[in-house]
Amino acid sequence: MPEQVIIIGSGPAGWAAAIYCARAALKPLVLEGAITEENRLAGTLPLGQLALTTEVENYPGFPAGDLEAYLDGAMAKDKRMMMPPHAKQGVSGPELMDLMRQQAVNFGTRVVTDDVVDVDFDTHPFRLTLLEGETHEAMAVIVASGARANYLGLPSEQKYKNLGVSACAVCDGALPRFRNQPLVVVGGGDSAVEEADYLSKFGSTVYMIHRRDQLRASKIMAQRAMDNSKIEIQWNRTLTEVLGNDTDGVTGVRLKSTAGQPDLDLQSTGVFLAIGHTPNTAFLKGKLATTEKKYIKWTTPWRTYTSVEGVFAAGDVADDYYRQAVTAAGTGCMAALDAERWLAAKGF
Ligand code: NAP
Repeated sequence: MPEQVIIIGSGPAGWAAAIYCARAALKPLVLEGAITEENRLAGTLPLGQLALTTEVENYPGFPAGDLEAYLDGAMAKDKRMMMPPHAKQGVSGPELMDLMRQQAVNFGTRVVTDDVVDVDFDTHPFRLTLLEGETHEAMAVIVASGARANYLGLPSEQKYKNLGVSACAVCDGALPRFRNQPLVVVGGGDSAVEEADYLSKFGSTVYMIHRRDQLRASKIMAQRAMDNSKIEIQWNRTLTEVLGNDTDGVTGVRLKSTAGQPDLDLQSTGVFLAIGHTPNTAFLKGKLATTEKKYIKWTTPWRTYTSVEGVFAAGDVADDYYRQAVTAAGTGCMAALDAERWLAAKGF
């Protein structure tokens, strides 16, 4: 028997879709992704990008405060023990994701821990093939496979992830380690300016490291960087090493010149990568229409419809602009409602 709805992905969009589908008695199956070394290195393990962050202070409903008692009651004991300690200021990314998953499971969502490696949207029911070789059929599919931040690929960058290296200033910028300290943003696009501008509220100086002598950012954003006295642009430089130690995490960066100047070391407690994101759409092998940047295209404004009827998209896999947990959860809800209504209209 084909499933009524299969949800691909296990970030906020996937679990929000699952909660809504489960409560609509659609018995959703979530394919949450595989736990593999390859996924760990790529930042695409189950539970998505939020599971890679520390404190989450901007998700509504989790104000600062001691959440220990709530978490003790809401989360399975074995999971609770596995969570990294946090400052008790609020919920952490891994905790929030586990709570979302638990909420979906509580309403009857079933979960398979594997990657989708191929999709067949030419036949109906749709057919999905998993890494381990299983196939699943579904009347409707919600793709919520997210995106991953691009990193430079340096071993030192990997070593200090969550110890000062981040790809999300909005998520991590307000952490104590960045307050009144010099910080580094890598990139020269709108995101880099936005990140630098945001970080300038917290840091003493924000160095933007750009590999050319001209920003890619739009004029208005570039002007914002120029007008901000806390932002200092290091032109024609690339980051070759994140400096640090096990106790303090990031302490600085080593920069190489692309214009024949000597190397330069800068002190910094944070390195923020803003060199773009990559949507997790490779497994679709072009079977859904995407934008130029490979994000799934919504074919109708304010609907989660894709180029294939009965296949819906939610979260960062279809959003290169907002990229927030709460917007992903919101579009996950929309996709569930769209799928439910489509199934009902078709009489499936
Ligand atoms: P982007 O425009 O593609 O810029 C990426 C930047 O990272 C570029 O400056 C690029 O350098 C640099 N870069 C890429 N790979 C690199 C590497 N390996 N080493 C060093 N530098 C590297 O990406 P984005 O800034 O994330 O923006 C994405 C889209 O969202 C854009 O369309 C942007 O306009 C939009 N956006 C808009 C706003 C806003 O209007 N408020 C805010 C954020 C994003 P090069 O320039 O040399 O290629």
